[in-house]
Amino acid sequence: MFRITDLLAAGTTFSFEFFPPKDEREQRLLSAAIHDLEPLHPSFVSVTYRGGAVSRQRTTAVVADLLKTTALNPMAHLTCVAHPRFELGEIMGGFRALGMENLLALGGDPLPTEQSYQELRHASELVELGRRLGFASIGVAAHPAGHPRSPDRQSDRTQLAAKLRLADFAITQFFFKVEEYLRLRDELAALGITKPIVAGIMPITSLVSAQRMAELSGYAVPADIVRRVTAGGEDPEEIRRRGIEVAAELCAQLLEAKVAGLHFYTLNFSKATREVYARLGLVTA
Ligand code: FAD
Repeated sequence: MFRITDLLAAGTTFSFEFFPPKDEREQRLLSAAIHDLEPLHPSFVSVTYRGGAVSRQRTTAVVADLLKTTALNPMAHLTCVAHPRFELGEIMGGFRALGMENLLALGGDPLPTEQSYQELRHASELVELGRRLGFASIGVAAHPAGHPRSPDRQSDRTQLAAKLRLADFAITQFFFKVEEYLRLRDELAALGITKPIVAGIMPITSLVSAQRMAELSGYAVPADIVRRVTAGGEDPEEIRRRGIEVAAELCAQLLEAKVAGLHFYTLNFSKATREVYARLGLVTA
């Protein structure tokens, strides 16, 4: 298992994000995606965390399975919101017992009140707990447009800078224009933070679902990107083709701008990621 901090220090990372399956059908999709994406030799893969006893078991099971059955380098996500402090410590202890040294420490999306704990209120507190439990390589989330719960972008940047003083690297929420990444990196640099910022990439394969997911994270697909993917009409295949083109162009611009890494939100599918890779000349589709 490799520390992501070491991989980032050695060069640009390429990574994929998966979510734990809820049923047999989703398990088959995940297994197929892993089968198709492992040959791309990602630097690491990450596994999301929803919260609560079921998610605790599911995320741990996916990570344990990846370690046992693949050559992939997995990192678990963990969120503050769904557990009291002692349980978060237990979950992290479970990850450490599997040999994990990488962790993505998150605040977590809000849950219904009865499932929500306020003992750790912000991701930075989870970073501190993770450090005490021996995680050598800890990442956090960054939001290029600012987090929707922040009063403004500047205050979000200040909190992100404070969080990154404790953590080792950040992975961004998905975005569509290179300027959004450059602005984030520049604004953090102005606050004295030069830690690696990995760019989150989500190729548009359906405009409606991309817009819905963007909305859920308090973001909006920029109007010129919407115009570009719909310029060929409403045919879903044409929108998808243009969405892949936009993502590949963004990745190429980010690589040109010396991005720390590209992290693909795969949604447990492999095709779009493979197509972007092919367009970048990293592999044949
Ligand atoms: P925080 O860093 O805690 O920030 C949340 C808000 O509080 C921001 O407005 C911030 O500016 C503010 N803030 C931070 N620290 C302080 C402080 N000390 N004092 C006052 N204000 C503060 N969600 C999931 O549920 N599961 C996942 O697996 C998951 N994976 C993700 C992966 C990535 C790469 C990204 C970008 C997001 C992911 N999310 C996930 C979503 C994330 O949990 C939400 O965006 C959540 O609402 C905020 O998480 P955060 O880690 O940015 O929180």
